[in-house]
Amino acid sequence: MSMRDRNAWLKGGHSQCNEMPASPLRRVRFVLLGAPGVGKGTQADLLARYFGACHLSTGDLFRAVRAMNGSASRAMKAALEFMKRGDLVPDETVLALVAERIGCLRCGGGFLLDGFPRTVAQAEALDVLLAGHQLQLDAAVSYELPLNKIVARLAGRRTCSACKKVCHIDQVGESEVCVNCGGKLIQREDDRPESIRVRMKAFRQAAQPLAAYYESRNLLISVPAEGAPEAVLQRTLDSLQIHS
Ligand code: AMP
Repeated sequence: MSMRDRNAWLKGGHSQCNEMPASPLRRVRFVLLGAPGVGKGTQADLLARYFGACHLSTGDLFRAVRAMNGSASRAMKAALEFMKRGDLVPDETVLALVAERIGCLRCGGGFLLDGFPRTVAQAEALDVLLAGHQLQLDAAVSYELPLNKIVARLAGRRTCSACKKVCHIDQVGESEVCVNCGGKLIQREDDRPESIRVRMKAFRQAAQPLAAYYESRNLLISVPAEGAPEAVLQRTLDSLQIHS
């Protein structure tokens, strides 16, 4: 299954996705938890293909706003400054953006929320939002990796400026050229060492309470994030007791 364009999520407003999901065999509504760099985005893509659900990343949403250059509201411009430093964007701004995109949460194809919620306040707000539409989460999948491996993954992460494929410098060597399309690889502003430190601190402060929140609701599933993406996907499916 190919990736959908996610217009409704990335552009908001009255934007529509070009391709609507076919009725999936199993509709999933998951949140993915874990530190930046743990591989949530990669797993979200793989799970999205597996289940036909949409990968809804709040980080992608902010990057899409940034790419619009200049036309962002005052609240959004302030949000982008938080992002640049590696800090969390205020809950109010994030929640307003997600609430505007309730159509994506109600979508018949299901969803994989990546990078949201990041605080207990966001998790509570998400529950209220979903309950208002008679929806509920199926699981909160938490990806776990030791800190030194996370930092190494983040510092070596590169994104292709052309096709947006994410890779690691270990895979491309000195060339720093995308293996997919030959495009120029760039480092995310917030993957620089000074921002990584801020992001890891923000993550550590929020992670425990957030995991406890989902644990208390019997939704938490922890998955070790070591190894190749396909192995982590298989581990995720096994943990969810889904057999292909
Ligand atoms: P990500 O791509 O998920 O690592 O997100 C990149 C950046 O976007 C984060 O470091 C935050 O600055 C901001 N961001 C994304 N999602 C959230 C969220 N749920 N709450 C607060 N800030 C967020």
